[in-house]
Amino acid sequence: MNISLDIYSPVQQIKNELFAGKGIEVFIKRDDLIHPIISGNKWRKLKYALKQAQAQNKTHLVTFGGAYSNHLLATAAAAAKFGFKATGIVRGEEVQNDTLFLCKLHGMQLIFTDRDSYRDKQALFNSFFGHDEQAFFIDEGGASAEGAKGVSELVDELTDTYHHIFCACGTGTTAAGIINGLTKHQLSTQFNAIPVLKNGGFMQGEIDRFLTSPTAYSLHLDYHFGGYGKTTPQLIQFIKQFVADTGILIEPIYIGKMLYALYDLAAKDHFAPGSKILAIHSGGIWGLLGMKDKF
Ligand SMILES: *Cc1c(COP(=O)(O)O)cnc(C)c1O
Repeated sequence: MNISLDIYSPVQQIKNELFAGKGIEVFIKRDDLIHPIISGNKWRKLKYALKQAQAQNKTHLVTFGGAYSNHLLATAAAAAKFGFKATGIVRGEEVQNDTLFLCKLHGMQLIFTDRDSYRDKQALFNSFFGHDEQAFFIDEGGASAEGAKGVSELVDELTDTYHHIFCACGTGTTAAGIINGLTKHQLSTQFNAIPVLKNGGFMQGEIDRFLTSPTAYSLHLDYHFGGYGKTTPQLIQFIKQFVADTGILIEPIYIGKMLYALYDLAAKDHFAPGSKILAIHSGGIWGLLGMKDKF
């Protein structure tokens, strides 16, 4: 099957008293609407990997993730849609949850592995599928140069220019892809990366390894709310208010943290009056299922 989807990802303005009072305009790019399961940046990151697999006549996608990984779920759904078999190698002891249920529903086979073995993904791939001519390796989170290439196409879709773009970071591939897109279009937009992990300074190296040319950007390290998958009552309150005010669904693992950062910086006069700011809604709303008890 031809690996392409019509991308439906409109840009919408978010209006409220905070932004009006600061004289700034804030927009959100709805990558969450690209596909109900293969959410946002995961679709963009998988696109060229799937094309590569197809070109090499590989029929079996093998990838990696934690038990709540949006990437595992996106790969399961993309494999089903485009006619691949899929295996997910899951970090940690065997568990059941909503994400893994949906992975299995899309036909993904799951292999649980202990945390030590999980560190060396290539070794795991070789031990399970080294003899499978059909198997195709996709790294955890879709982190790769092809992944960044797919994401850079987001910038091709923009019909306006912005002073700032905001994006949540896990592996940094999405951030690198957008920065590469800005470079390609010779845009001077300030890119703002929000690592969702604690001690996110290492994200600079992760982003830089996929940049097509060295570029300056801002890393905001203080919006991890305790670390990956962690929340605080303050963050949850912000998310409830945001969803109720805008009708745009967001979750606490990525988008809640990124938007909290944007609102907080706006309140602290970080943006000059007249600034136009674009936030990337990279999707991930199935992540809400694992966080219901926090609300
Ligand atoms: C996976 C994910 C990210 C992180 O993307 P990276 O390319 O790994 O930095 C951001 N937002 C959402 C919704 C995600 O699911």
